[in-house]
Amino acid sequence: MHPPDATHALYPGSFDVLTFGHLDVLRRAARTFQRVTVAVAANPAKRDPLFTPGERLEMLRVSVAEWPNVEARTFEGLTVDFAREIGAAVILRGLRAVSDFEFEFQLAMMNDQLAPGVTTIFMAPLPQYSFLSSSLVKEIARFGGDVSPFVPPVVQAALLDKARGHGGAARG
Ligand code: ADP
Repeated sequence: MHPPDATHALYPGSFDVLTFGHLDVLRRAARTFQRVTVAVAANPAKRDPLFTPGERLEMLRVSVAEWPNVEARTFEGLTVDFAREIGAAVILRGLRAVSDFEFEFQLAMMNDQLAPGVTTIFMAPLPQYSFLSSSLVKEIARFGGDVSPFVPPVVQAALLDKARGHGGAARG
């Protein structure tokens, strides 16, 4: 356990798959906080993930390599417990269109109850990423569409691999 550090932000998520929207939030975070830990939740509420936590971590690592103050990790259990474990006083979440608000607000209030010393901060992405979601990208990839405007090359390659491996639309 480290004492909570207001210059250290934890950005938790499923990151299944990592998009330019997530990376836009991370770019802002990297220049706003001294230290950023981006962490793959290994036990997400969402069912049927496409990538394993290890695969998601690897893609994150490659994609954040340009920012020396950003570290990628995986974690299990409650986000607030992991925040306390690494000493982050801030939980960072992305806010897209209005549809994110209710869930994110609920989560922030709950986390505040669980760990009053940890504060949730929201960041909005650039407008062109406001409607970008991991599930939409997976759907496009599944049917062989071009995902290059939405995800970094490492994710694009992994999506293609998955589609091939599962006999998906990218074959042939
Ligand atoms: P989770 O399952 O925890 O919501 P996600 O990987 O879907 O994990 O999202 C992680 C965080 O990033 C969430 O706060 C989500 O609102 C945010 N996010 C997802 N897509 C975008 C985007 N296009 N722009 C900005 N923030 C985003």
